[in-house]
Amino acid sequence: MFGRAPKKSDNTRYYEILGVSKNASQEDLKKAYRKAAIKNHPDKGGDPEKFKELAQAYEVLSDPEKREIYDQYGEDALKEGMGSGGGGHNPFDIFESFFGGSTFGGGGSSRGRRQRRGEDVIHPLKVSLEDLYNGTSKKLSLSRNVICQKCKGKGSKSGASMKCSGCQGSGMKVTIRQLGPGMIQQMQHPCNECKGTGEMINDKDRCPQCKGEKVVQEKKVLEVIVEKGMQNGQKISFPGEADEAPDTVTGDIVFVLQQKDHPKYKRKGDDIFYEHTLSLTEALCGFQFVLTHLDNRQLLIKLNPGEVVKPDQFKAINDEGMPMYQRPFMRGKLYIHFTVDFPDSLTPDQCKALEAVLPPKPASQMTDMELDECEETTVHDVNMEEEMRRKQAQAQEAYEEDDDDVHGGAQRVQCAQQ
Ligand SMILES: [Zn+2]
Ligand SMILES: [Zn+2]
Repeated sequence: MFGRAPKKSDNTRYYEILGVSKNASQEDLKKAYRKAAIKNHPDKGGDPEKFKELAQAYEVLSDPEKREIYDQYGEDALKEGMGSGGGGHNPFDIFESFFGGSTFGGGGSSRGRRQRRGEDVIHPLKVSLEDLYNGTSKKLSLSRNVICQKCKGKGSKSGASMKCSGCQGSGMKVTIRQLGPGMIQQMQHPCNECKGTGEMINDKDRCPQCKGEKVVQEKKVLEVIVEKGMQNGQKISFPGEADEAPDTVTGDIVFVLQQKDHPKYKRKGDDIFYEHTLSLTEALCGFQFVLTHLDNRQLLIKLNPGEVVKPDQFKAINDEGMPMYQRPFMRGKLYIHFTVDFPDSLTPDQCKALEAVLPPKPASQMTDMELDECEETTVHDVNMEEEMRRKQAQAQEAYEEDDDDVHGGAQRVQCAQQ
């Protein structure tokens, strides 16, 4: 991007990259970036250059201030305004901040990290399906290390530290062990006197606040905003809120949402599934029932007399599924899966009454004589699962017996020959 000849106020290219018009709304931009970024993500075999361009275009146009500069003066004005180092951020960071974490199952996040970065602290955060449906915020109190303010992270009153005498400042100690004549073993391990830091602080010079540890513990309350439509496993990051340490870029605190099972509803993507059992009469002659939704609204689910529901059938209600993440006015579907509870048996009178109203049975194509020729059978109930299990056990036994048979059979053959 450095080599390109500056064009006269090029202020349409970013719109073209995202494939939107110049008066595109923030929503349009988001949608366009989401679609294109997933399609062109290098982890999915996309073109890294294109992916970078998309991130750059989105970064500028999604920021009203930058967008205005771009619209008026073009790309080059922005590069000057954005200051040092070629402008723009890591496209993977932009992607991740947009999607709230890596959407391709981890990985990717280690890319482009600065050196000597403190570790991210990852906390699971249990949420209910109601929380993900309605959105919520949770206050969490965490304790973390922060740089001691009194000594500014030096650990000493004077700000001075000495080289650790135990390791000469290297932080590592080498011990040599004689194994035998002319044989030695060298072992390296972190210095125990300075805990591997290579520094020593004079006892009298120790910072009274942190006792020379350079950091102190601090309690901090973080408010985690769970947005409508967030998913199980989605990450919510607090950049730079992990443990502080001297000369280290502080890592992030990352909350990973863990959705608790719901007693009634199951979620799949933006859709919600609900199980409902009907009596045979309801399945044949219509029904109504009230379903309490995740926001406590009461939905009347109704089928008129004459509409038949078959066992294992699904019905759907549009726009009653989960709200979509960052587009909460769009919603998935609510699916209802029906089980029909058939009666175990009927009396002869009930059969007669049903036969009078139901479609007639298929007429027998055979004469009484022909039927007399047939063999009678007995049909009985089976538990198919148990049946299969028993068969498997039998097959196993037969296999083991087969093994014995080899010897038995051979013996028999020998006997016969004698
Ligand atoms: Zn040491
Ligand atoms: Zn201190």
